[in-house]
Amino acid sequence: MKDLTCRVLVVGGGPGGYVCAIRAGQLGLDTVLVERAALGGTCLNVGCIPSKALIHTAEQFHAATDTASETGLSFGKATVDMGRNVAWRRSIVDRLNRGVAGLLKKAKVRVVTGEARFLDGKTVEVTDGSSSYRINADDVVIATGSDPVSLPDVPFDGPVLSSTEALSLTEVPDRLVVVGGGYIGLELGTAFAKFGAKVTVVEAGDRLLPQYDSALTKPVADRLKSLSVTVHTGTTVVSVSKTGGAVTLQLRTPDGTERTLEAEKALVTIGRRPNAGSAGLSELGLDMAGPAIAIDDRCRTSMRGVYAIGDVTGEPMLAHRAMAQGAMVADLLAGKKRKWDVRAFPAICFTDPEIVQVGQTAEEAKQQGIEVKVSEFPLAANGRAMTRERTDGFVRVVAEKATGVLLGIQAVGTEISELSAAFSIALEMGARAEDVAATIHAHPTQGEGFQEAALGVMGHALHI
Ligand code: FAD
Ligand code: NAD
Repeated sequence: MKDLTCRVLVVGGGPGGYVCAIRAGQLGLDTVLVERAALGGTCLNVGCIPSKALIHTAEQFHAATDTASETGLSFGKATVDMGRNVAWRRSIVDRLNRGVAGLLKKAKVRVVTGEARFLDGKTVEVTDGSSSYRINADDVVIATGSDPVSLPDVPFDGPVLSSTEALSLTEVPDRLVVVGGGYIGLELGTAFAKFGAKVTVVEAGDRLLPQYDSALTKPVADRLKSLSVTVHTGTTVVSVSKTGGAVTLQLRTPDGTERTLEAEKALVTIGRRPNAGSAGLSELGLDMAGPAIAIDDRCRTSMRGVYAIGDVTGEPMLAHRAMAQGAMVADLLAGKKRKWDVRAFPAICFTDPEIVQVGQTAEEAKQQGIEVKVSEFPLAANGRAMTRERTDGFVRVVAEKATGVLLGIQAVGTEISELSAAFSIALEMGARAEDVAATIHAHPTQGEGFQEAALGVMGHALHI
């Protein structure tokens, strides 16, 4: 057993942990990062990056096979070699893995590979095959992420997949049941539908993506319909049986009746659970917020010198939140004055069309007693959207009625995620509707929809 000491110990090398370690290293703090698997965590290896690569190729495949297009284009018979597609996605992941390793090295972070186990709030033991370490640190950052939740008594194996196995499929299943119509289910389910799978979504809630308002999710539901995806809302899974390479699901529908669904694969995406109970973390006796480690506005846990960041601290489980928390904690450890004071937190669902939400919704603002003005600009009136054959969606601005200060922005549209930066900057900088309206937005872009929605707050949109 080798003994190591350091100023900062980060456990978990996902976007939260590796960003924290890089920043701590940049700030001159002697830092050790422990990771049991590949650097980059869920996001880089089995999450954000490979899923967006899958979505990209699925869209290309679909465009090549779309007979409804009026553009005059027609392609030969499109085929996909999913094995090669998986290999291509892995090559992107490998490149990014190497990039993260290089950045950590440049920041002089020592990376220890292996499974960490907490002995106390300052010490972990790491084992990796034959080598083992005892690492003692002044400050510890827990960044152990989250794991997919399975259906009760239905482990992920054989035809029952979590997102990780779904991203490794080398064949497009003929029939795919997606249990859980949230972020992952709809992002991956849409991609497989575009590759030609017959997709059925089973969602327990009364509508898809319940975290967004129904106007935002309607274009997504309409698109699923046009892709022949069947959606059962208000429906729960009673039992799952695996037979050979296939799977049979017994469902309970909203009226209480039962129905059977058969498919080659079932993708279960009913949420993720913070990885807060293993690795000796339970024995630390940290205060919890449900299944997550409770933190304050500086990511401090209930134990002095122990911080927690990212998915292990619960919702929203997003990579950019983990990264921002990681960078903040490193600054705090270096003695800088920081706290979580975020006005514009973007959330994007990479469905088709994409949904973006930044800041407050009208409902949230009203609940705080703020009188709001809401303006929506439909992409049906946006030239750029027309040139891309996709006019479904809108940009919506929520502003304080008295001052015009922007409180929140929501949008749904094809590749509208790229506008999230503009939305966030406007909100974070305290822009008023008139600031956005007076900013020249290049033509023809979907960004003009943002300007028009801001003009709408002032009562004089130009192109509607
Ligand atoms: P993780 O990325 O989970 O990293 C935790 C790391 O800790 C892992 O590498 C793990 O191996 C390591 N670890 C755990 N325990 C130990 C231990 N005892 N010893 C050593 N190492 C340990 N978010 C977005 O913002 N945008 C997206 O588009 C997006 N798409 C997603 C798509 C999918 C399919 C999935 C599954 C997730 C997606 N997410 C997305 C969510 C995003 O991946 C997570 O929010 C993000 O990875 C959380 O980062 P983290 O650092 O907290 O944890
Ligand atoms: P989710 O919370 O987005 O969706 C889970 C869905 O499953 C919900 O709609 C819920 O009502 C439904 N559900 C729960 N139990 C069910 C049951 N027994 N039967 C049927 N439906 C059931 O969770 P997810 O899609 O697994 O994603 C996990 C996390 O990963 C998300 O919270 C998100 O933060 C993150 N993520 C983000 C992105 C992104 O930013 N674009 C993409 C993927 C994942």
